[in-house]
Amino acid sequence: MTEISLETIKAAQKTICGVAIETPLLPSPFFSQICDQEALLKLETMQPIGAFKLRGATNALANLPSGAKGVVCCSTGNHGRGVAFAAAKLGLRAVIFMTNKVPQTKIDGIRALGAEVRLINGTQDDAQAEVDRLAIAENLIDISPFDDPFVISGQGTIALELLEARPDLASLVIPLSGGGLAAGIAVAAKAIKPDICLIGVTMDQGAAMYASIRAGHPVDVLEYPSLADSLGGGIMDNNRFTLDLCRRLLDATYLVSEEQIYRTMQTLYYEERLIAEGGASVGLAALLGGKIPNLEGPVAVIITGRNVDTRVFADIIAGRDIRLGETLIRGQTYP
Ligand SMILES: *Cc1c(COP(=O)(O)O)cnc(C)c1O
Repeated sequence: MTEISLETIKAAQKTICGVAIETPLLPSPFFSQICDQEALLKLETMQPIGAFKLRGATNALANLPSGAKGVVCCSTGNHGRGVAFAAAKLGLRAVIFMTNKVPQTKIDGIRALGAEVRLINGTQDDAQAEVDRLAIAENLIDISPFDDPFVISGQGTIALELLEARPDLASLVIPLSGGGLAAGIAVAAKAIKPDICLIGVTMDQGAAMYASIRAGHPVDVLEYPSLADSLGGGIMDNNRFTLDLCRRLLDATYLVSEEQIYRTMQTLYYEERLIAEGGASVGLAALLGGKIPNLEGPVAVIITGRNVDTRVFADIIAGRDIRLGETLIRGQTYP
């Protein structure tokens, strides 16, 4: 399979059934009032590994070349956990490379699934270089966190669930990093409903896909510590799929600040009693910050994961300051 289409996404839906769950779509009176449109939250936080990445990882591992002995990947945490989960089910070896920006809770979660964790003192690109080396040296299959047709098709199954539940959805708001999630959702959603409005949102520092869409080619960005740690990293110089798909199919992309992410995690907890990690909160942060002009409803916002460091989360809930490297996010109690 070299292409990504509604058919490959429907095939993925059959493949992942029974491993990844069909997640709830929660109506939110609070966020509906905020954006003056009916707003629904797609709770990928409820997946068995606490994030949507289980979809793509399960589909990719179900489609490995025959005779594969094991898999290797780099990850900001959730892809690695998805791959570790799927590999354990298949009895395959899994090696996960991560940088020291990854929260300990994500590292622990991956180790608990029996995968080998290797930590790199560097960037996601450095981690990918190690993946490339080990893939050859130890005969492992590299599973890209975003630029892989099976991964993208797996993530796209979210759009099938959304439009089956609510064919009247006018807009989808999607957290954006490497773009596997946005690309998969976009291919399926635009095939089913060409006039649906697709909005990508990411953090304002180190937003590689945002810059690359504007440049028309992969742009290298610096990595900064962020509450949205799962959105860090580049899109790879040799990007094959996600840049082209995101550029062609997303209607708009927006940036949100660390303060807005902080405030949104707090709001989600106090208003909906939901726990979401920073990267999962950027879509709602754009809504809450009034960043999306002329938003049409009904709108579904993808809440992508819940694997937040508990100490960081406790600080946010209590309204305490948070230090991220050089920057300080000033705390504020809710409301
Ligand atoms: C990976 C991830 C994203 C972004 O997905 P991409 O396919 O890289 O764009 C968003 N939220 C969470 C929680 C993630 O783990």
